[in-house]
Amino acid sequence: MQLHNLKHPDDTCTFIDAVLRGIGRDNGLYFPSSWPRLDAQSLLPLSFQARSTRVLQTLIGDELAPDIIEQLVTKAFTFAPRLQPIDEQTDVLELFHGPTLAFKDFGGRFMAQLLGHLIAMGKHKGPLTILSATSGDTGAAVAHAFHRLPNVQVVILYPRGRISPLQEKMFCTLGDNIHTLAVDSDFDTCQSLVKAAFSDDELVNHYGLNSANSINMSRLFAQVCYYVEAWAMRADRDVVFSVPSGNFGNITAGLIAKRIGIPIKAFIAATNANDTVPRYLQNGAWQVNNTVATLSNAMDVSSPSNWPRAELLHQQRLRAIAVSESETVAAMKSLYAQHYLADPHTAVAYHGLQQRREANEHGIFLSTAHPAKFKEVVERELCTTIALPAELAAVVNRPLLSSTITADLALVKRAIQSAWN
Ligand SMILES: *Cc1c(COP(=O)(O)O)cnc(C)c1O
Repeated sequence: MQLHNLKHPDDTCTFIDAVLRGIGRDNGLYFPSSWPRLDAQSLLPLSFQARSTRVLQTLIGDELAPDIIEQLVTKAFTFAPRLQPIDEQTDVLELFHGPTLAFKDFGGRFMAQLLGHLIAMGKHKGPLTILSATSGDTGAAVAHAFHRLPNVQVVILYPRGRISPLQEKMFCTLGDNIHTLAVDSDFDTCQSLVKAAFSDDELVNHYGLNSANSINMSRLFAQVCYYVEAWAMRADRDVVFSVPSGNFGNITAGLIAKRIGIPIKAFIAATNANDTVPRYLQNGAWQVNNTVATLSNAMDVSSPSNWPRAELLHQQRLRAIAVSESETVAAMKSLYAQHYLADPHTAVAYHGLQQRREANEHGIFLSTAHPAKFKEVVERELCTTIALPAELAAVVNRPLLSSTITADLALVKRAIQSAWN
C-alpha cells in the first residue's frame, strides 16, 4: 500500500514505513493514496479471526505475507467484539472484552504484534521508544501490549488528575519497560508534547521514537475489523453506527470500512462538550476552544488529531452531535432501565444514536469501555454497585509508579533518556 503525507503529498511511503514512522514531516498524517476493495458478501461465512485476517490482508496488501498477517491477528485478537441487542432496532457493540477493558486493546495489541514482527525481521534497527499521550485508555492498552517486549521502552504522558483512578491503576503500576508521566495539564497539552518530541532529531534518531497514538495506521486498520464484524451480524439491515468520539480514530476506522466496500449507511460522531467537530460540521469554522473535563474523560479532546483523515473519508455520511453531561447521565439511566449497564462514553454514543438516527435505520452504538473502569461515576449516578472484573481487581492495590512533571519537553526528554539507562 502506498501512503502519502497529507501536508506534503510528495512525501510517500509504504504501510510498514508509515507504521514505523508514525507521523510524517511537519507532523503530517499518512493517508493511503488509493484504497483496495473488499468483497463484503464473501466475508459473511467467516469467523471473527478469519474475517479480520481477510480485512487486514486486503488493507495491507503484499507488504506482509498472508500467513504473517494471520499470525498477527491470532496473537492480537485473543478476544472478540460482542453485539448485544437493546431492542429490535438497536444493538450495542461491546469492544471492552480485551485485557484493559477498552476498545483500544484492538489497535494497541495489533500494533505491538506488528512492531514485534518488524523488529524480529530487522526492519527496525536499534532501540524503539514508544512515546504516547493518553486521555485514559490508550495508555493502558499500549502499556499492556508492549510490556516486557525486548528492546522497547514505553513512555506514556497523561493529564494528572483527569483520568479515572482505575484507569490510572491499569497502566501506571506495571513497571519494567513502562514509564508513566503525570503531566500537570490537559490531554491536548500532552499530545502537543508528544508532537514536539517528534520534531526533536536527537530523540527521533537516537531513541527510535514511535508514537503508538491513534494516528498510527496500524491501529486504525486493526479497528476496521470490528465494524466489519458488527455489519456481518446485521448484514440484512441499513446499519448506522454511533461512535463516542474524542480523537476520532475510532470513527475513522469505521469510515475506512465503508470506503473499502462494507455497505454501512452512515455514521454518527457523538462528542461530549468538547465539540469542535460538531460545530465545524454545522458552521464550517474550525474553532478550538479550551478542553473541558467531562464524565467521558477519554473524549476530552478539543483538537482531534485524526480529523483530517475522517474529513477526507466521510463524504456526507457523517452526522455529528455534542452530548451534554446531563444528557450523558440521562442516557446511562435510560439504558440501565433497559437492563444495560453503560459507562459514560457508551452513554454518549447511545444518546447520539437516539437523536440522530432516521426512520428504519438499524442503530449500533459502540461501547468503548467496561462500566467498571468508570466505577465511581456509574455507581454514583445509578445508585448501584459494580464488582471489579479480574483485570481491575488485580491492579487496584498496586502502588502507582508515575512521576509528576510540568508540561515541559525537556522533562519528557530526560524521562526518555533515563528509561534507556
Ligand atoms: C479513546 C476513547 C474514546 C475515543 O476514541 P477516539 O478514537 O479517540 O475518538 C471513547 N471511549 C473510550 C472509552 C476511549 O478510551
